[in-house]
Amino acid sequence: AKRAGGSKVEPFRPAFRSTTTDRLQIETDLRRAIERRELSMVYQPIIRLKDGELSGFEALMRWDHPKRGTIPPSEFIPIAEMSDLVGALGIFALDRATADLMAWQTQTGELPLFVSVNLSSARLINADLYNDVRSLLQKTQVNPAQLKLELTESMMMENPEQARLVLAKIRETGIGLALDDFGTGYSSLGHLTQFPFDTIKLDKSLVRDATDKRAVLLRSVVAMARGLDMSVIAEGVETDDDATELAKMGCHYGQSYLFGPPAAADAVMRLLKERFPL
Ligand code: C2E
Ligand code: CA
Ligand code: CA
Ligand code: CA
Repeated sequence: AKRAGGSKVEPFRPAFRSTTTDRLQIETDLRRAIERRELSMVYQPIIRLKDGELSGFEALMRWDHPKRGTIPPSEFIPIAEMSDLVGALGIFALDRATADLMAWQTQTGELPLFVSVNLSSARLINADLYNDVRSLLQKTQVNPAQLKLELTESMMMENPEQARLVLAKIRETGIGLALDDFGTGYSSLGHLTQFPFDTIKLDKSLVRDATDKRAVLLRSVVAMARGLDMSVIAEGVETDDDATELAKMGCHYGQSYLFGPPAAADAVMRLLKERFPL
């Protein structure tokens, strides 16, 4: 969990000071950005490896700052997490992604594409999240099976009991739960069975240049996930050879620049119109 550290202030270290000022400035700007609708979602395709079929998208947030240009999430999500903004960002991402999914759905007809939305703070895994999800489902009539939430293992660790309960209730609605960034820091095989995940996303550090020993590791993780009836999405698939190799291992999906960069909702709509002409 990311928290602001101790309360000790060290006024004579310029780097620290400017970072703090930056952070407060960004927080103020971010608050305003939400009101001014400067935040947007982009969508990166997720491809079924066995036949290259488009299967879904991961929703990724962007901040289109009037002066600084596009700010990547790595620069503002951690700041949002330290403030009360994180809840508003989560709702924004869910609402927007659901609306875009439903618009695309009119184009693809019965093909049930899924959209996967990131949640980044352990503090969000509470009854409010469940209520928000339920009212979203009621309000929009979206098919819950077409929505996934992406969560990381570290988020589970802050309050495992509560996480288990809340996630089980969310899972009951039919919404999917993906364990994100698997293979980094906190990975524990136990988490695969302790929490109701139906999908596991292999981090690019695990997938990239998977030669020899790492290929063995990758193969067993994929086999285990499959044994637990989970879908496996590999991130950072860099070459066609990697994609072929992963498909052979039984990995279901791939997501990387090789298959396509994140794109705005209207660009996705154009792509779908080409691919699925009515
Ligand atoms: P993530 O959830 O692991 O998302 C995947 C990141 O990998 C995205 O970066 C994506 O653009 C990037 N990526 C995709 N294909 C490739 C590839 O082939 N090679 C490499 N090197 N990178 C690739 P992005 O959009 O900058 O997002 C970074 C992180 O910010 C995300 O990592 C996620 O943790 C967080 N994030 C993004 N959007 C949201 C959001 O709406 N809410 C929350 N809470 N966090 C978000
Ligand atoms: Ca993710
Ligand atoms: Ca990831
Ligand atoms: Ca991440």
